[in-house]
Amino acid sequence: MAKLEDLIKLLKEINKGKHKTAIIPGIRKKNGDYDLDMIKLAYEYAENAHKGQLRKSGEPYIIHPLETAITLAKMGLDQPTIIAGLLHDVPEDTNYSLVDVEKNFGEEVARLVAGITKLGVIKYRGMEKYAENLRKMFVSMAQDIRIILIKMADRLHNLSTLDSLPPEKQKRIAQESIEIYASIANRLGMGYIKGELEDKAFPYVYPDEYKWLKEEVMPIIKTGLDYIDKVIGVVKKELGKEKIKIEKIHGRAKRLFSLYQKLQRPQYHGDISKIYDLVALRIIVPTIGDCYQTLGIIHNLWKPLPGRIKDYIAQPKPNGYQSIHSTVFCIDGKVVEFQIRTPKMHEQAEYGIAAHWHYKETNKKAKNIQEKGYTLPKKFQWIQDLVDWQKDVQDNQQYLKSLTLDFFHSRIFVFTPEGDVIDLPEDATPVDFAYHVHSWIGDHATGARINTQMVSLDAKLKNGDVVDIITDKNRKGPSRDWLSFVKTSAAKSKIRSGAARSNELGADFTN
Ligand code: MN
Repeated sequence: MAKLEDLIKLLKEINKGKHKTAIIPGIRKKNGDYDLDMIKLAYEYAENAHKGQLRKSGEPYIIHPLETAITLAKMGLDQPTIIAGLLHDVPEDTNYSLVDVEKNFGEEVARLVAGITKLGVIKYRGMEKYAENLRKMFVSMAQDIRIILIKMADRLHNLSTLDSLPPEKQKRIAQESIEIYASIANRLGMGYIKGELEDKAFPYVYPDEYKWLKEEVMPIIKTGLDYIDKVIGVVKKELGKEKIKIEKIHGRAKRLFSLYQKLQRPQYHGDISKIYDLVALRIIVPTIGDCYQTLGIIHNLWKPLPGRIKDYIAQPKPNGYQSIHSTVFCIDGKVVEFQIRTPKMHEQAEYGIAAHWHYKETNKKAKNIQEKGYTLPKKFQWIQDLVDWQKDVQDNQQYLKSLTLDFFHSRIFVFTPEGDVIDLPEDATPVDFAYHVHSWIGDHATGARINTQMVSLDAKLKNGDVVDIITDKNRKGPSRDWLSFVKTSAAKSKIRSGAARSNELGADFTN
């Protein structure tokens, strides 16, 4: 059972810049020192508010907000977020009001707690409710991403204590954790949170599959990790000869739910022996240069499997993931996947958007976080976009449908001629691309080049394509015909409004 001292100890270590966890080499101190007295006050306040309340597990209620706050501290989040984590269930479940929270802990903490309370209980009840829940999540994400991070930490602890709930409830909570929370965590690049949510929920949603996989795979993973230890010895020696500093080197076992999903794909037929990354060797080195040099050293030692080198450093995944992966014929001809990355990439892979969280306090009186100098990092701009589109689309049902489609359709990433990465749904066209870059470019597009080849505007883009849009400033506006092939909601709504505008001007938009 967690104690207040656990949280305080963790925060002290971060204050000293010394904190090391098993998951990241060191949480960088980026939000200033934590005020430990203030944290203790918040804890006592919450403890008092929840006095006499017990969790279904029989533990005092305070354990739940405390565990939530500990997870947030491990993610390196700032003081108001940790305090809000401690207080997140106070207005909903106790006699203490939000006004009282604000009086004691200030406007920013109160706003975060209010955001979580407003999200309320998210329930997985069919597609319609599901989309509505997603919409709520997106609105609060755009408002302040920290609200979602608190909600994730909250859910993580609730999943750890599912055993004490009735089976029907267990299954519902586990299901929505996979369908809603883990999906969002994935899209925000939060690999660690996504993996934890899924693996905690897995046994409740698919008990038989979970049991089978665990029995089948655990012995293989154990042998694999023992073998990796031998490989680590060799790699350490070779990198040492080249004077490459190793920040961290370890075997990583594939998470069970992610393995389960991979086995569902047609090419694997549920055959575990076809999965090469059950156990992988992860090497964390200081710089990008070190990453490529390490890859060279490994390929010099062991032959790579053809077509299995993936350079996600040069071409990051749409959710921001960066690393080099290569599968080689290793010691005794065994097939092993190597993953090479820098500490920063590692932090990004585990905590995604949370790793980007650094807060510039420019205007203390400002009402919202944007005014205070925080904007979503560019690669997460789509969160704001999704919320903005809602304002353009009048029909709520239509919006909800397109929201889920945009969000869960497989994504591809393509490049501008300048090398910027653009994240689009599968089968997106040059028109989707054009509107993603800028409305003006969309409205004035007349043609497109994919990898220097001229193509029509309804061509389907593929991963890695370099797309160049040809525009004509005399063009009056978009063509309604485009509606029949574009894939993104943004393009659709912009074509509708652009066509309406040029219609008012008397332009012919049938071309
Ligand atoms: Mn809670």
